[in-house]
Amino acid sequence: MLRRTLLQSALAAPLLAACATNTTLGAADPMAPLPHDTSSYARPDEARVRHVSLDLTADFDRKRFSGKATLDIVARADAQEIVLDSKGLIIQRVRAGGRDTTFTLGDSDPTKGAPLTIQLNGARRIEIEYESAENASALQWLEPAQTASNKRFLFSQGQAIHNRTWIPTQDSPGIRQTYDARIVVPADLKAVMSAEMLTPNGERTQDGKRAYRFRMPQPIPPYLIAIAIGDLVHADVGPRTGVYAEPSVIERGVYECADMERMMEVAESLYGPYRWGRYDVLILPPSFPYGGMENPRLTFLTPTFLAGDRSLVSLVAHELAHSWSGNLVTNAVWADGWLNEGFTSYIEGRIGEALFGQEHARMAEALSWADIQTALGSVSPDGQRLHWVGEVSANENSSAITYDKGATFLRTVEGIIGRERIDAYLRSYFDRYAFQPMTTQAFLADFRANVVRGDANLESRLMLDQWAYEPGIPSNAAAPQAEGFSEIPGYVEAFLAGGPPAAAPWETWNTMQRQRYLQSLPRELPAERLQALEAAFGLDDIGNMEVRYDWLILAVRNGFAPSERAVETFLTVQGRGKFIRPIYTALRAQGDWGRSVAQRVYARARPTYHPIVQAGVDRIMNAA
Ligand SMILES: [Zn+2]
Repeated sequence: MLRRTLLQSALAAPLLAACATNTTLGAADPMAPLPHDTSSYARPDEARVRHVSLDLTADFDRKRFSGKATLDIVARADAQEIVLDSKGLIIQRVRAGGRDTTFTLGDSDPTKGAPLTIQLNGARRIEIEYESAENASALQWLEPAQTASNKRFLFSQGQAIHNRTWIPTQDSPGIRQTYDARIVVPADLKAVMSAEMLTPNGERTQDGKRAYRFRMPQPIPPYLIAIAIGDLVHADVGPRTGVYAEPSVIERGVYECADMERMMEVAESLYGPYRWGRYDVLILPPSFPYGGMENPRLTFLTPTFLAGDRSLVSLVAHELAHSWSGNLVTNAVWADGWLNEGFTSYIEGRIGEALFGQEHARMAEALSWADIQTALGSVSPDGQRLHWVGEVSANENSSAITYDKGATFLRTVEGIIGRERIDAYLRSYFDRYAFQPMTTQAFLADFRANVVRGDANLESRLMLDQWAYEPGIPSNAAAPQAEGFSEIPGYVEAFLAGGPPAAAPWETWNTMQRQRYLQSLPRELPAERLQALEAAFGLDDIGNMEVRYDWLILAVRNGFAPSERAVETFLTVQGRGKFIRPIYTALRAQGDWGRSVAQRVYARARPTYHPIVQAGVDRIMNAA
């Protein structure tokens, strides 16, 4: 990274929008220096992986992948060994240049796993025969009862450092790798990956299984290697967009994703061509731990966005936006995660504005602004910086900072330099750094060289360093004003004064207005008021999961026992961490009632949650 020096960028600055791209694939120096990644054992200045070739069989009975990974590497002429990341992998045999070679697995760290050091003997291709880890944190092997089709299902989640539990490679976002794969699965299931599908119908193997082959020709950070195996069908949405889902879900999925092609056109008109070929989404079973995961060519999505009225499609806009911010230009280290998520949240807003109008965008910004204010009250100063310093714990890795503060920063910049200039800059940024890693420091240097260009007045108005490196929100922040929310405080006040909830025009409100109303209610409400609210709007069972979450978290924080059944349902029909963790936290804060509900529900629900969510809720349940 950092191939573009300040000087080069400054020279290229005058005609930004017309700036020619120099980013032919693979043009980057394969041994360009990288910042130190504390979450990986790799020593990329000595040797680094350039291509991963997987030949794996999925064993659902043993919940393992087994087979071979072949790695092509580049290395300094004097490099004796390469260090990979591994967490729980069972390594059976390693060859370098076709001959057996020695390898060592170092001491294992509970988070990072262990370094796998392989003697190169001068070779630049190594083959590793191995099995994935027991209880690999990247993989969730679902039982038939956990899926719509009542068949087995597997999916992976690599971000941030989970892929080392099923792939022996250098698991660091700065070390970009192409990949291909051959995956053998039971004959009644289909494999899909974050790559070009070469065999849509699979190929029969000698032992009656099916093999699927894939190819990812663009170099990607290794956390974006992703796989799912299940009873999957595909349907087109547009000429290059489509949906994968279990058969009984596909129709709802296609309906919900109808705007995908338009989203793609908007994003391309702003930030340049989509460089990944097709764009498909995969709708996963309910235990998928996230809203979405931007695996290239194949976004993974939670089924909780299937609201039936396309009201939660901003999630698709977000994941699509990652095709530029995150997948094309990638945070080199996780301490700079806002370069992925803050940029993406900003672009998500721009796509939403183009599709649904300015007022829609202002409301989304106002909700995000409120999330930031909440986070500032609970997150430690270190956790409030865009660029993390020191060890920011997982609990403090607040999305309100990485996503919402990051997006607010870019909106603030837009307000100061104007939309035309920020659009031209971002388009040029994605062109110039396509398929390269990025750091906060390099981004700020590039922005200064291309936009600020020594203008001291502009520099002081932007407050760039405060935004990137200081806690809190700088004084120049663009606070959003949403007309669509202007009447809500009046309705909240009337309700709190004892008025009927039905006085609020709930039926005419959109999802964000409903969320704003619920989020504006105080954390302490009399049971009678909660009862009235639930009765008026049917909140316990409302189909929109974002709204249902806002209601249930309010109910739990008030110890509102009549909604216990709804809470239990909510915690067992889906496993999205963003919804699950706060509810358990709130239950545990509710004395004997809440603790016993949490205990009982978790005992039942835990086996259905993804390992990542299990680990998070375990921490909550074991806290004092
Ligand atoms: Zn994201």
